[in-house]
Amino acid sequence: MIEAEGGEIPFDLPRVTGAQRERAAALLKALRQRYPDARCALRYTAPHELLVATILSAQTTDIGVNKATPALFARFPKPADYARATAAEIEPYVRSLGFFRNKARAVQAAMSEVATIHGGETPRRMDDLLALRGVARKTANVVLGNAFGINVGVVVDTHVERLSKRMGLAPAKSTVAAIERRLMALFPRESWTDLSHLLIAHGRAVCKARGALCAEDEICRRFCSNAKAMRRAGSPKRAKPAKNTARRNAPVGRKA
Ligand code: SF4
Repeated sequence: MIEAEGGEIPFDLPRVTGAQRERAAALLKALRQRYPDARCALRYTAPHELLVATILSAQTTDIGVNKATPALFARFPKPADYARATAAEIEPYVRSLGFFRNKARAVQAAMSEVATIHGGETPRRMDDLLALRGVARKTANVVLGNAFGINVGVVVDTHVERLSKRMGLAPAKSTVAAIERRLMALFPRESWTDLSHLLIAHGRAVCKARGALCAEDEICRRFCSNAKAMRRAGSPKRAKPAKNTARRNAPVGRKA
């Protein structure tokens, strides 16, 4: 158990060495220098709007969500407005997003519970957020970290998952839940929200799902053995990184 701002972490974190933490801290510093403006890409003006936007962002891009939400937020300014509406009345505002019927239902259900159980205030506790219909840990972490500045976990989206494995922050076969715990163990708690944004920024700019810029990048050369391997091999500038780099990158992560 670990106590800190935001409450206890209700599970044990994996063991990491001092050297692994030091290397993680150096990576964090380098990412902060490279991406000083990294932040949540979803647009919102109130915590419940971020909760809605995050529910809508499943399986779609933040850009797409940001296009849809201005009209949605104007039509439904408060959680009570969603509670009074039906999912069918929300659907036209989210029709441009995938799975829009399911998302309209999820938004209506979650906002109804915020309105009726929490008096219209978005919960600030992980357990209360997880009790809302359609809200899982990733969504709760987004809301707590970005709307309230409370670090209870690390958001592990597709970019964070990919980079964590490629850079050896977590073993290659880790589940999303295991990756989150590894990152929580490696990085200081006050950095958890930023860490996710920073890894996402590096993932979008350099370590892309396809055509990663291995070997060209300074951060990669310092922290990822793929860069060294690609340089040694004289490979093309854009390369497909090895899937399992956890063992070679073990200094950053666990003994792999
Ligand atoms: S070296 Fe390649 S795999 Fe490693 S972080 Fe950089 S782009 Fe990603």
